[in-house]
Amino acid sequence: MKSHTGGKPRHPFTPHIKIIQVPNSKTVFAICKWCKLKHGKVYAIENTQCVNKKDRLRSHFQNCINFKAAITKSEYENLMQITKPKKKKASKSAVSNNLPSASKSDLQGNIYF
Ligand SMILES: [Zn+2]
Repeated sequence: MKSHTGGKPRHPFTPHIKIIQVPNSKTVFAICKWCKLKHGKVYAIENTQCVNKKDRLRSHFQNCINFKAAITKSEYENLMQITKPKKKKASKSAVSNNLPSASKSDLQGNIYF
């Protein structure tokens, strides 16, 4: 059996991030490459680190002046366009699994962008 099937999940933000390996965590985190260049790795980890998921990164890049300064306006608009969350069909099971406490602390971690 091959252990490397499919490889790393890629998304359009891959060229604009740096992967952060967190010991003892299966979650892959990413920081903004442009914030790191501008302010250093410590700043980037404290302020931009998030789960390496397209939607999470998108919410940072939407507000990231360093990112906007690094690429052209049309590149930026294209990236935002192709990473737009797809509209999901209304699903009965998806909404019912609500954990208010978990999502609250999650939000607090990201609120200071
Ligand atoms: Zn940034």
